[in-house]
Amino acid sequence: MTSKQFTPTVELNPHSRTPDELDVILANPGFGNFFTDHMFLAKWTPDEGWAYPRIVPYGPLTLDPATAVLHYAQEIFEGLKAYAHEDGSVWLFRPEANAERMQRSSQRLALPELPTDWFVGSIKALIEADLAWVPRGDEKSLYIRPFMFASERFLGVRPSQHVTYGVIASPAAAYFPQGLKPVSIWLSTEYARAGAGGTGAAKCGGNYASSLLPQQEATAHGCAQVAFLDSSEQRWVEELGGMNLFFVQSDGSIVTPSLSGSILEGITRDSIITLAGDLGHEVVERRVSIDEWRSGTADGTITEVFACGTAAVVTPIASLKWDGGEAVSGDGEAGKITTEIRSALVDIQYGRATDRHGWMRPVQPA
Ligand SMILES: *Cc1c(COP(=O)(O)O)cnc(C)c1O
Repeated sequence: MTSKQFTPTVELNPHSRTPDELDVILANPGFGNFFTDHMFLAKWTPDEGWAYPRIVPYGPLTLDPATAVLHYAQEIFEGLKAYAHEDGSVWLFRPEANAERMQRSSQRLALPELPTDWFVGSIKALIEADLAWVPRGDEKSLYIRPFMFASERFLGVRPSQHVTYGVIASPAAAYFPQGLKPVSIWLSTEYARAGAGGTGAAKCGGNYASSLLPQQEATAHGCAQVAFLDSSEQRWVEELGGMNLFFVQSDGSIVTPSLSGSILEGITRDSIITLAGDLGHEVVERRVSIDEWRSGTADGTITEVFACGTAAVVTPIASLKWDGGEAVSGDGEAGKITTEIRSALVDIQYGRATDRHGWMRPVQPA
């Protein structure tokens, strides 16, 4: 079924925040606390394909209690940011990569694929309606959350014949306003995030649901996040609950776990592989064992460890803790190469460095 041409209708919110209310929110947005005045919605059915693209006032969705997603978790999402540049223009970073990843997630979750022009168009339409919500300065951003779910009212187990796609947006503060602060990570030895043949490579809510219990364990041990190993051998480092991992070695080369089929292919990960190469580092994608992480930080072969993802960009990892031990990397400060790579990426995103790879897409001119 081919989808209709992308021409969204716009219903403006009569109760949009006033400029004064918006100033208060944007001064201290935090993360995921406030939502813009509008949202984007579209629906899919086998007969019509993708249809009814529309910008409407932000507000609750009314769902029948038998809506399939509430029972069988047929749901996927994406995450990306809009960045305001010094000259006032607003930009997206590699949105087509998010569109293509959402299409791959759709395949795994038996959801219909949203065409790339609908995906990028829906985000641009929402930002145009809520342009005043893109924070200016201080490395703030507008976090954009596209999502898709089974909205058919039906309790039988099969792919939903009615699917809803939406986009909401939330202003986000800089993740480390006081400079990069290394965190501790908890090694989960009891739980896996994803297994071979499972949904680990898809960006779906179910992966996050299963990571919440180990995340509680991490918090109880004073750690910010959980590191997961492969589920069959419990030997190979996969990723954190929502971020990919990198290891800087003493010879300046950088290693990241190769995509195993159960690792989520981060767009930040992919961009860092390219940028680290530009900066003269050899980057190797290969399996990394948990023993290598432990012994490498102990004997100095591994000098820096960091995690990466859209929300926090780059997070330095000071130590890995587990039941009965700890592997400390670095001196408690963000490493030199970690900092260098983070700057190279955010300088492109905020328009302070030349976009040599053609990653930025304008939403609104200055
Ligand atoms: C979204 C996500 C990432 C990071 O992906 P980015 O595209 O870099 O934001 C990493 N791991 C998991 C499990 C994720 O869901």
